Amino acid sequence: MDCAYKDCQFTSGNISKYSYGSKHYCLFHLPYEAKEDEKGNKQGKATWDDGEKSDFKETVYADFQSKQKLHGENFNYTGTIFPSNFMLIHLPAEGSKKNAVFKDCHFHGDLETDHAIFYEDVSFESVTFHKRALFRNATFSSGVSFKGATFIGDADFSIDHLFSKKYDYRCFFNDVDFTRADFKQKAWFNYCRFVNETCFIETTFGKAPDFANAVFNEDIRFEGAKFNSAEFEEAPYYRLLEKKMDEIGALKYKAIFFAKEQDCMIHFKKMPLTQILATFIYRIASDYGRSFLQPLLWFLVFQGLFYYLYDFFRPPLAKADTVTMLVMHIFRPFSFLGLPEMYTFRWPMEIYVVGVFHSIITYALVTLFLLAIRRTFRMQ
Ligand SMILES: [Zn+2]
Repeated sequence: MDCAYKDCQFTSGNISKYSYGSKHYCLFHLPYEAKEDEKGNKQGKATWDDGEKSDFKETVYADFQSKQKLHGENFNYTGTIFPSNFMLIHLPAEGSKKNAVFKDCHFHGDLETDHAIFYEDVSFESVTFHKRALFRNATFSSGVSFKGATFIGDADFSIDHLFSKKYDYRCFFNDVDFTRADFKQKAWFNYCRFVNETCFIETTFGKAPDFANAVFNEDIRFEGAKFNSAEFEEAPYYRLLEKKMDEIGALKYKAIFFAKEQDCMIHFKKMPLTQILATFIYRIASDYGRSFLQPLLWFLVFQGLFYYLYDFFRPPLAKADTVTMLVMHIFRPFSFLGLPEMYTFRWPMEIYVVGVFHSIITYALVTLFLLAIRRTFRMQ
């Protein structure tokens, strides 16, 4: 019987078949179902004891060794279910000189790659790391992809500082792709060097990522990346990213991290109320200077509101009509104060008060609009 996993790459020579519900799988693809069914039973690899899990590891390591020796054979572990902690350091000492594919794999324990070197392309696309993903001190000399990967536990890609100094030619990402990856917890990239294309397009960060002492180049993308957390303690992480984006001239991303830092600061309990209010207004009015549509929209809303107010306070015999009053304040703010008598004749005090507020708000929104336009076209 063939393995139920589509296009199973292990079926030849891997005779043992494991039943799972009504299906049969090979040793590598046998699923792991920790949820109990109606009879209170777990299924597949979730039922294994420590001995069985350790035997599985030995089988995979033996497979590594044999593939490393075989000419032309790449590491293809697509769809493999790892039931317990797994270490990739069992690669031969000189590192992997073959393409390695771990696409759609599930790591139900910690994955560790301590000091592993990958000279060729590696794929962790659509992988689910159910516990921690510990890529500390790993080197990816070619491309590595984590497209669509889910990191349920912490993810650590950091380099130990001393190690980084000792082996200057190692410990880096060449091309790295985290498109649509989902970091549910914290991600560390301390002392990482991103030497080529770095992609965080539509990546989700459950907590502020830590890029302390990381080195970026200009080829980095954060379009559509989501940073879901804005605790007060996280402000320094966003400030650091803001600074690093400034260094490489990525002003658009700098604005993203500036906005996130402001979101964090608003949670500081001792911040003066006026500053909280100012930050809040800045965010509402123009998304911290990043949106020119927002001030435009508020501009229209306020013109509507002030039209209503002028109309409400206008005496019936006034010679200037409501539209004239409104337009006058848009183009000549504060002009009301110096109007000829014929216009101001018998006008109530309220009109002056409304006029002053109208002018201030119009001025502020037009300024925010122009600043946002300027920022959009990077004329800073
Ligand atoms: Zn299979």
